[in-house]
Amino acid sequence: MGGNNFRSLIIFLFSVSIFFNGCSRKRPLIKQRELLMNTVAEITVYRPEDKPAVAAAFNAIKDIEKLASRFLPASELNKINANAGRVPVKVNDILFDMIEMSVHFSKMSDGAFDITVGPVVSLWSIGTKQSIPRDKEIREKLKLVSYKNIVLDRAKKTVFLKNTGMQIDLGGVAKGYAVDRAIEVLKGQQVARAMVQLGGEIGFLGQPPSGKFRNIGIQHPRDNKKIIALMSITDEQVSTSGDYFRYFVHNGVRYHHILDPHNGYPARGCQAVTVITDKKSDADILATTVFVLGPEKGMNLIESLPGTGCVIVTADGRILISKEMKQKIRMM
Ligand code: AMP
Ligand code: MG
Repeated sequence: MGGNNFRSLIIFLFSVSIFFNGCSRKRPLIKQRELLMNTVAEITVYRPEDKPAVAAAFNAIKDIEKLASRFLPASELNKINANAGRVPVKVNDILFDMIEMSVHFSKMSDGAFDITVGPVVSLWSIGTKQSIPRDKEIREKLKLVSYKNIVLDRAKKTVFLKNTGMQIDLGGVAKGYAVDRAIEVLKGQQVARAMVQLGGEIGFLGQPPSGKFRNIGIQHPRDNKKIIALMSITDEQVSTSGDYFRYFVHNGVRYHHILDPHNGYPARGCQAVTVITDKKSDADILATTVFVLGPEKGMNLIESLPGTGCVIVTADGRILISKEMKQKIRMM
């Protein structure tokens, strides 16, 4: 993550904190931060006796990182990738679940969301490299991309990638999944109210002490000091995918980290997508999916899913709000 992007993430977290604090003035607030999964992880609770649960929730996030990271050589995910084209690999239930969920959304989006995009993600290495790969190289790597070549055996809990060179990348799903697990751990330890944030993913447990809703700001994708809207959130998960987290600009064109698996280039329809759902972990996958599908198809998908809403900032800066979100949102 480049310095500027990291700064904007901190500002974003800070701005969310302002609203969150504003809701709970005079009440004790325990906020802890750690650097995990390549970003800032922050857990907020309200009672001193919840502190041990917070430590357990951070551990749950670390466990997911150990399973699902491509950057940790010993991760289970890297075992699957190393055995692509060779043998199925038996994996932990959590990793299996994450991959199965991803394939479900790939089918639903006709491959706009596709975790086998790994070889193309590595080729671009956005956030590390600042050069545009040759078109021929992109086309070569694209041959390895298809969720249809992931073979899952539910009974044996094995994952097999059919072709040598295939690589799963869980960058679009693991953080949301980890937020959800952290919330489950807190709930399991009798924590009644909490907030867990991991980069662009935020999960909530219970209502804030101050009342029914929390006001969460959506950052302007082109001005990190500006909030475009405030959402009233209860027990839901919020995820933002944007072209301003990791990117570089070349000849006036922005190249970012959310790729269209159909052509291997950064998806072009949106600047930012925020998804709110009342369902487990779906928000993260859906935000990435809608970003790739673009405003029209993305909005249709969200409006077909009950309990799910979104705010889209289109490539030309228009703000679109799904029907279900309209009562929950206040434009700034
Ligand atoms: P997010 O920030 O949640 O939208 O996820 C972006 C990350 O997901 C990227 O950094 C890649 O690791 C991965 N990714 C990029 N494009 C896709 C895609 N079309 N489908 C699934 N994962 C993707
Ligand atoms: Mg995502």
